[in-house]
Amino acid sequence: MGSLETERTTTGWAARDPSGVLSPYTYTLRNTGPEDVFVKVMCCGICHTDLHQAKNDLGMSNYPMVPGHEVVGEVLEVGSDVSKFRVGDIVGVGCLVGCCRNCRPCDSDNEQYCLKKIWSYNDVYTDGKPTQGGFAGSMVVDQKFVVKIPEGMAPEQVAPLLCAGVTVYSPLNHFGLMGSGLRGGILGLGGVGHMGVKIAKAMGHHVTVISSSDKKKVEALEHLGADDYLVSSDAEGMQKAADSLDYIIDTVPVFHPLEPYLSLLKFDGKLILTGVINTPLQFVSPMVMLGRKSITGSFIGSMKETEEMLNFCKEENLTSMIEVVKMDYINTAMERLEKNDVRYRFVVDVAGSKLDQ
Ligand SMILES: [Zn+2]
Ligand SMILES: [Zn+2]
Repeated sequence: MGSLETERTTTGWAARDPSGVLSPYTYTLRNTGPEDVFVKVMCCGICHTDLHQAKNDLGMSNYPMVPGHEVVGEVLEVGSDVSKFRVGDIVGVGCLVGCCRNCRPCDSDNEQYCLKKIWSYNDVYTDGKPTQGGFAGSMVVDQKFVVKIPEGMAPEQVAPLLCAGVTVYSPLNHFGLMGSGLRGGILGLGGVGHMGVKIAKAMGHHVTVISSSDKKKVEALEHLGADDYLVSSDAEGMQKAADSLDYIIDTVPVFHPLEPYLSLLKFDGKLILTGVINTPLQFVSPMVMLGRKSITGSFIGSMKETEEMLNFCKEENLTSMIEVVKMDYINTAMERLEKNDVRYRFVVDVAGSKLDQ
């Protein structure tokens, strides 16, 4: 049964090789299947992982690759079995676009831990074609991996929530750390860290930012609303803060010693790793035994948690701090992100860059 329909194309910006330099690339999108939502991309945040993937830092990159997994867009068409979304809805797409739906993580709304999950880009979809991300004019996504953006939230403000925001929200939710009055630490003040401060503050926590230098002290305390600021090389300050935190969300994506931070945790405290580090980390066992402390990791969040997190941010009137750029600035933005030269997230105005015209 041949199809007479012409294939739908879109233009994105793709990396072609490990230089990671992005340039325009036009490719076909699948037709909108019964469970699919066809989304015109409005904007897309730039995450540190986009940098890793574009440059093949993890050794798993396939080119051409259109990165982008903090996608906000408008629904242009829905499949016949889609009831949750309507044409004109503003929706979000995050890191994943598929899972097996049949394993323990999938059955318990933890699909981000499915071993057969499909990434929004640099992966292969069930039709055998490469997945491509949000630095593009449009996307076709299974409705399970699309989330409705609560009314009244600005699309560019929401973009960083879809990866950075839920990366922080999910472990706080899962480990029972949402109650007010807790004392939390945010290690590293990049895209995820800045959302961490805002979300933890909105939960009513006392929040300490821990950083390698005092460069971000004023903005952490005055702009983001952190309660305290610790420089990890300040032995006296670190000593004073020992045994004071219920949790630390460790967002640092490069090798660093864990022991200085473990000593900041109280009895039963948790060190939660969220940065991708491909070098082994080290600690001596009494650091976790004495105090029954945990070192654990957490990976983005589920679609259910993404929905909850968006509603939480809407209720708390929580915003992100972003720098909006056009697509033709993306290579400069990636370079600046690599040097941590952004407060705190770049968001590409994709619609305003008129890729599909
Ligand atoms: Zn991300
Ligand atoms: Zn599964």
